Amino acid sequence: MLITVLGFYGGYPYKGQGTSGYLLQDGDQNILIDCGSGVLNELSNYIDPLQLDAVVLSHYHHDHTADLGVLQYNWQLDPQNRKHDVLPIYGHTQDFVNFAQLTMDGVSKGIAYNDYESTEIGSLKFEFLRTIHPVPAYAIKITKGDESIVYTSDTAYFDGLVDFAKGTDLLITDTNFPEDKTGKIWHMTTKETGELAKAAQVKRLMISHLPQKVDVEQMLKETQQYAENIPTIHAFTGLEVEI
Ligand SMILES: [Zn+2]
Ligand SMILES: [Zn+2]
Repeated sequence: MLITVLGFYGGYPYKGQGTSGYLLQDGDQNILIDCGSGVLNELSNYIDPLQLDAVVLSHYHHDHTADLGVLQYNWQLDPQNRKHDVLPIYGHTQDFVNFAQLTMDGVSKGIAYNDYESTEIGSLKFEFLRTIHPVPAYAIKITKGDESIVYTSDTAYFDGLVDFAKGTDLLITDTNFPEDKTGKIWHMTTKETGELAKAAQVKRLMISHLPQKVDVEQMLKETQQYAENIPTIHAFTGLEVEI
């Protein structure tokens, strides 16, 4: 599996860098995980977006779905070159209004996932875990054989993440705040992320969903301090990690 970061900011794009989006490739399969602001533009630097096999959405906040409409138009306007007749878009059904938007007649089809059974997409197994967020959101675990990637999606810290991420080859986290952030938060701090990675004994940690106004090297340094011996990197556009 190869994962490429297409966008990594939380909330809104900034200075040419987009919000959440990751291209997951395995063999000739191309799966887009989240489709935030700026992601379609960036995706086209790697593959023709018409060559996608599926899109998987963690939740329906705009910073994870902003480019979905234009991706659907991309498929609508160039029917000759599509890899599939319709683009499968996987989402949860806890929000029927947004789930309905995934289906566009003759262009894309919404497919429901849930947290009590896994979903096979091509050669990969997807599992989902409901997170703690103001709207329903799901962490995603992708497994192929002995290898796995866990993406926390957006979430406050909760203990269930440790089991879900246990021993994974790559943990990608919503690390939107430095460690000194106080008050009620719906994302994780560097401290929480680092401690999560350590408790789950993941092989590698990638902090993502990063803040625009905090130095990324500070975010990384803080996280690494709590992750201790877990190798830690920060997401940036174009970063590729092979698992
Ligand atoms: Zn977000
Ligand atoms: Zn969110």
